[in-house]
Amino acid sequence: MQGTMLYGPRDIRFEDRPEPKITKPTDAILRLSATCICGSDLWPYRGIAEVTQPTPMGHEYCGIVEEVGKEVRNIKPSQFVVGSFATSDNTCVICRDGYQSSCRQREFMSTAQAPMLRVPLADGTLVATRDLPSKELIPSLLATSDVLGTGWFAADAANVKPGSTVVVVGDGAVGLLAVLSAKQMGAERIIAMSRHESRQKLAREFGATDIVTERGEEGSTRVKDLTKGIGADSVLECVGTQESMMQAIRSARPGGFVSYVGVPHRVELTGTELFFAHVHLHGGPAPVRRYLPELIDLVLNEKINPGKVFDLMLPLDQVAEGYRAMDERRAIKALLRP
Ligand SMILES: [Zn+2]
Repeated sequence: MQGTMLYGPRDIRFEDRPEPKITKPTDAILRLSATCICGSDLWPYRGIAEVTQPTPMGHEYCGIVEEVGKEVRNIKPSQFVVGSFATSDNTCVICRDGYQSSCRQREFMSTAQAPMLRVPLADGTLVATRDLPSKELIPSLLATSDVLGTGWFAADAANVKPGSTVVVVGDGAVGLLAVLSAKQMGAERIIAMSRHESRQKLAREFGATDIVTERGEEGSTRVKDLTKGIGADSVLECVGTQESMMQAIRSARPGGFVSYVGVPHRVELTGTELFFAHVHLHGGPAPVRRYLPELIDLVLNEKINPGKVFDLMLPLDQVAEGYRAMDERRAIKALLRP
């Protein structure tokens, strides 16, 4: 089999890799229907997160179960399944609280940009659909694996409720699906912060009511202007930079909620500013597994169409072009077909 490896900044190779095998009795092997490139994959691709050795890539996936280990009870060969980027037993005390992405047995997936994938803790990590889904639904089902699950967590962690005023910082795929999530949760007003016309258009399609193009201090001032000088009830930070984090905190009203799901890079917060901001902060790697059953149902019932964030579809062997297109912002998100 061939799979995706990152050798160093902007050096993606699709090369021979060992085919995955069952190594623990709780594993499953999947034949992937689709995989994709994550915004977070761009951190090491751009050299912002250091790569010291050739590293397999990919953590978003859905597909057909080929084989399961001896101790796997619920997941069965030939089922269609979606799993999270973080594995979970779904039984420990942390999982039972709904934080499966901090499961005591967690592993982060990292070999999914390939045709075959080994998934540890299959029973706890994977969710199977009742029937095989139609081809048209594959992009949206793939989106539940991370990008939608993460946007959904951003909205949930920021306490979005019917009638809320919401700000979404970041117009990447997660930010756009955070808009969709806020809309599903009943937000009345959704202010998307975006400078890119094609992304603004998709944000509006997903439910954004206002667009703010300013950034940083000017961006948060503009949000205050739009919210009678008070700030938003819920602010969803979907980038992970110092500027986006401060923009988020300064856009929230006193007593408001700020969630942060962008992987932070060199973000530092000062105690005094946090103290006087008077906001609830809640974020981290999204516990996608908590939401998967609900999100898969919404997709299968065609209530939502998160697959629209994939504006580039490529055969898997052209994965390097997918990275280039996302790096150069020619594409929001690239789907890869094995
Ligand atoms: Zn657990």
